[in-house]
Amino acid sequence: MTESIPVKKNDYVDIQFEDYTHDGMGVGKINGYPIFVEKALVGEQAKIKIVKVKKSYGYGKLIEVYKKSPFRREIPKEEEHQYGGCQIQHMTYEGQLKFKEDYVRQVLKKIGKLSDVPVRPIIGMDEPNHYRNKAQMPVGQKDGKLISGFYRPRSHEIVDTDESIIHLQEINEAVKVVKEVASTLGIPAYDEKNHKGVLRHIYARYGRETGELMVVLVTRTEQIPKKKQLVTELTQRLPKLKSLIQNVNPKRTNVILGEKTKVLWGRENIYDYIGNVKFAISAKSFFQVNPVQTKVLYEKALEYANLSGKETVIDAYCGIGTISLFLAQKAKNVYGVEVVGDAIEDARRNAELNGITNVKFAVGKAEEVIPKCAEEGIRADVIVVDPPRKGCDEKLIQTMLEMKPARIVYVSCNPSTLARDLHMLEVGGYRTIEVQPVDMFPYTSHVECVSQIVLK
Ligand code: SAH
Repeated sequence: MTESIPVKKNDYVDIQFEDYTHDGMGVGKINGYPIFVEKALVGEQAKIKIVKVKKSYGYGKLIEVYKKSPFRREIPKEEEHQYGGCQIQHMTYEGQLKFKEDYVRQVLKKIGKLSDVPVRPIIGMDEPNHYRNKAQMPVGQKDGKLISGFYRPRSHEIVDTDESIIHLQEINEAVKVVKEVASTLGIPAYDEKNHKGVLRHIYARYGRETGELMVVLVTRTEQIPKKKQLVTELTQRLPKLKSLIQNVNPKRTNVILGEKTKVLWGRENIYDYIGNVKFAISAKSFFQVNPVQTKVLYEKALEYANLSGKETVIDAYCGIGTISLFLAQKAKNVYGVEVVGDAIEDARRNAELNGITNVKFAVGKAEEVIPKCAEEGIRADVIVVDPPRKGCDEKLIQTMLEMKPARIVYVSCNPSTLARDLHMLEVGGYRTIEVQPVDMFPYTSHVECVSQIVLK
């Protein structure tokens, strides 16, 4: 069997890249045997070193690029270690958008057999740098100094960083200040290996529309040495701070947050807006990390829902109710369904915060709750789904086919499962009018899409 594999580990070979994997690795072939290489771009010719050989594919490492793609972006030194989270930082923004749009087209054709469905040009950001409103940075110690930053890829070594190209500058600044203050006061960093020390993570969230900052200090112990000075310094040096929280995580674990949360200073929440809907954000609550593009995505969803004010809408997989509250302003009634109870509590609170009274939320699996709604005689004119990566449960697709809403709006974070589900809907009597990709996460390989599907 191994005879048919044309390369061995540690070989150096020349290769041309023809394609991408879903997470943006370049794919080239040697005698038909595919090799995946990080940071390689389609159209490039390069020398690679083979690092792993499997039965039907292998992995290589880029050694020298002979012919460079016009979409290649040279990565500044200080950004290199952000690679773990930023799979496509070696592409220009134009290249990133092209990669995502092409990928959606390809997957719809291959998995969904929907080559005639129009894919609209992807909507990118005008300013793709510094968009993320949240950061959770691990803290450690190096040469007697407190450091925080990103883990080196595939390791637990922390690379000290103050700048991240994806975090909002207010977030970068907050992390830097906390690090400096904690370091000056001699607050011990958490030592993962021996499970000693205090400060585990610096976690910051920022409301872009409101200018409100939240800082969460994740600690191993309840006690924080010099707590009073720490609070005073942070409130003085961070004028946008509205909420300073301590989260205690005494466990040996990779999970960042522990159970116990207390307010050290200020409020328990900060606020932010998506469009004109206001959201309360606590340390533990979910909130979209790129509210600018979330608004773009959900406005498109609203357009596709095509509401006149008379419709009953079901928002399956509603999370904290972002889409439900957005749609409620244009619909008669909205029913939101979500499996996580805490998210539904947030959703209800957010409805109240905005004085929105025509939404009802239910906790449970969409594929179980929605068939019951149908039995109770609830007729949905529009169903919106925004499922996790694995896509819609088949039972939910069947239920939608039986309920026959006039329109389905599908928000997806995974083009492959979107394609699979659109195919099922197509076979069941629906037609996909169009698919609109929206870039929610520049520098990463994540692709979001929204599609309009109508009853034939
Ligand atoms: N639109 C939402 C986010 C959706 S993310 C917002 O803006 O808040 C997908 C959501 O689906 C998650 O909140 C997840 O908890 C939920 N979920 C996962 N499986 C589910 C299921 N079987 N039924 C209902 N909700 C589910």
